[in-house]
Amino acid sequence: MPAVPPGSLILVTGASGFIASHVAKAFLDEGYNVRGTVRSASKGDYLVNLFKNTKGKFEYVIVGDIAKEGAFDEAVKGVDGVAHTASPVTFAAERPEDLFEPSVNGTVNVLKSIKKNNPDIGRIVYTSSSGTVNDPEMPCPVRYDETSWNTVSVGVCEKLGSKADGGHKYRASKVLAEKAFWKFFEVEKPKFDGATIHPVMTYGPIIHQCDSPESLNDSINRRIWPFVNGKRTQKDLPEPGSSFVDVRDVALVHVRAMSVPEASGERFLASSERYSGNDVCVILNKEFPQLPNVPKGDDSPGARERINAVANFMDSAKSQKMLGIKYRPIEEVVKDTTQSLIDRFNIIAN
Ligand code: NDP
Repeated sequence: MPAVPPGSLILVTGASGFIASHVAKAFLDEGYNVRGTVRSASKGDYLVNLFKNTKGKFEYVIVGDIAKEGAFDEAVKGVDGVAHTASPVTFAAERPEDLFEPSVNGTVNVLKSIKKNNPDIGRIVYTSSSGTVNDPEMPCPVRYDETSWNTVSVGVCEKLGSKADGGHKYRASKVLAEKAFWKFFEVEKPKFDGATIHPVMTYGPIIHQCDSPESLNDSINRRIWPFVNGKRTQKDLPEPGSSFVDVRDVALVHVRAMSVPEASGERFLASSERYSGNDVCVILNKEFPQLPNVPKGDDSPGARERINAVANFMDSAKSQKMLGIKYRPIEEVVKDTTQSLIDRFNIIAN
């Protein structure tokens, strides 16, 4: 059970991303040192500045194309653990391969580089997704936990290719990458071990470099930002059917999955509770009355429970118990996400 304690050096791949920047921060705050991989020096320098006062030390290396064999050969040298988070996140890819190559090859490449250049590391924690757990074509509501697998999306992409729905393309990229991850352990039997994290729709304050709403990460761009800026209207409500989690909690799940011995070989769902677009609007109206175009939302007694009851239930009891995570509620998450968007984009003043 090669868990990795504070004081060790962790490689965080794709450190410039929405989730990975928080993963890096959480490791640094817990006293780990972090080496982040980024695609450009400007993104690396931004992170150096962001993390200049953290408990642990931050450094970065540039890894351009994660799909290229040997991409991580240098980056893994000298680290004690790896959090592999880099992967494209979009429902708008044209060809499934556009996602499969960086997602699957990137995951296999980091494992191969560790085996080749640093086989004595303790653990690799891979950021998978709830998309590898739930079956998007099953009528809701269904209860899912870590024993469940999405057995649909890969087949849909094989059958329809570029014509497959964008959600299936993304989910299939994560299913194939996670299967390759576990297969590596089965076949190669390395000394180091692994764990996977499965966040649901992830929101929370943005700390990464993001200069305009157009470059917001996919989850905030799809489910929070359109209510903040009024693009989604009353006719889009109640928008039920999902679960959420705060990015700061997802980051802590990564740290605990690295440091708790029993996490070895485990999958962990990271999920708070069910919510709807209606919840987002009710909270936005209460907390940010200055935002002009937020749909009203139904805050009558019982509305919330009634609307959310139709969504799937993503059971995160395992990460709560084994990793000691207490997930933040929707009120805190919507409030902190929105405040960070207001601060970053100066949207009220405009
Ligand atoms: P972001 O788009 O914010 O971050 C993705 C990161 O991966 C960025 O650092 C990006 O680099 C890097 N990346 C993407 N494609 C490539 C590539 N071809 N080569 C090299 N680097 C690449 O996404 P999130 O933070 O939202 O997601 C991070 C991880 O979490 C992903 O693995 C995703 O599947 C998973 N996840 C996300 C959820 C969510 O709701 N957001 C939910 C469940 C799982 P750059 O900054 O240079 O673009």
